[in-house]
Amino acid sequence: MVSCPRCGRQNLPSATACSQCGATLPAAMPIGAPVSDGAEEYARQMAAREAVRRRNRMLIGAVALRHFLTGQSRRSAHRAETR
Ligand SMILES: [Zn+2]
Repeated sequence: MVSCPRCGRQNLPSATACSQCGATLPAAMPIGAPVSDGAEEYARQMAAREAVRRRNRMLIGAVALRHFLTGQSRRSAHRAETR
C-alpha cells in the first residue's frame, strides 16, 4: 500500500493519485525492487536503445544519400546521352 503524503490514506500500489484527496502519490515501485538499481537499469537500457537508434538513423541516412547520389548521376548521364 502507498500512504498519501497529504492525508495519509492507504492507496493501492497501482494508484497514481489518492482516492481520498486526489493528491499525486509517489511512483509506486514493485515491492522488494531496489529503486535506485531499477532506475539505473532503466536509464542504461534507454541509453543503449538511443545509441542503436542513432546508429540506425546514420546508416539509413548514408544509404539514402548513396541512393540519391547514384540516382542523380544516373539521371544526369541519361540526360547527357539523350541530348
Ligand atoms: Zn490523500
